[in-house]
Amino acid sequence: MLRLKVGFLLAAFAIVPIAAKANSCPESYAALARAPVHQRGEALVSATYGRLEELKAGRLPGIEIEVIGTSDGFPIQLVRVRSPNPKAARVFVSSGVHGDEPEGVTTGMALLENTIRSRRYDLTYVPMMNPGGLKAETRANLAKLDINRSFDPGVGTEAAEALKKAMRGRNFEVAVDLHGASQKTQFFLISAKEEGARADEILKNVPEALLLPSSTGTYPGYAPGLNDPKKYRMLFPGSAISNNGGTLKDFLAAYAPRSYTLEYPGAVDFSLQQEWNYRILNSILETAEK
Ligand SMILES: [Zn+2]
Repeated sequence: MLRLKVGFLLAAFAIVPIAAKANSCPESYAALARAPVHQRGEALVSATYGRLEELKAGRLPGIEIEVIGTSDGFPIQLVRVRSPNPKAARVFVSSGVHGDEPEGVTTGMALLENTIRSRRYDLTYVPMMNPGGLKAETRANLAKLDINRSFDPGVGTEAAEALKKAMRGRNFEVAVDLHGASQKTQFFLISAKEEGARADEILKNVPEALLLPSSTGTYPGYAPGLNDPKKYRMLFPGSAISNNGGTLKDFLAAYAPRSYTLEYPGAVDFSLQQEWNYRILNSILETAEK
């Protein structure tokens, strides 16, 4: 079984020889980007749980993994990677709240691997907020509830309630919830609060062709029934602000002065998705160091 999990891991992240120790990490994201595997559903969930089990068994110093609750009967895990640098930025990342957006999970897991190696950040990461949905490749959980609209009081899902409980007493410089927009061909960052300067800095190295246009000032080509275009305002290319109630990003704004949703474009080449999703995520976290 362990070998099977290791096999899945290798397929997902293409990182280490088969004989490598359980605590091995990828050399760099470049290695991931050269051999991307478009993994989803059962295989993605197995690979992610498998890697977290390996990390738990590896007992590396400064790494803690806890189960904070369940969703559809599957555990929701939270990983903390501490940095020996007391000035390291405290960052929170979550992924997989929408089960049909698997590249958020592979991007977040790449960040986890690289942070274990570099200890650049004090990272708190929840890889799979919706494991049932990820297995079934559905936006909602298996009870057909959109977890990313369930953070307002009285609306709760078990996943939202688990995270609310786990976040008590924590605080961060920045929080990022990783998403994907299946119909889109450009990236965009959604801020919980207006902070154009920082978004400008985060996106400055991204080619404009890869950023969602802002010329009309509104959110273009929204998915009918899923998002209200009036709730999104485009500030400049790739940068939006929203007040879409009950989202994880809005919940996280109470724990970090800057809170973002990062959306990868699901309609472009997978390698491009992964490479730039990772780069933009890193740019967000770098701004937390300043
Ligand atoms: Zn999403």
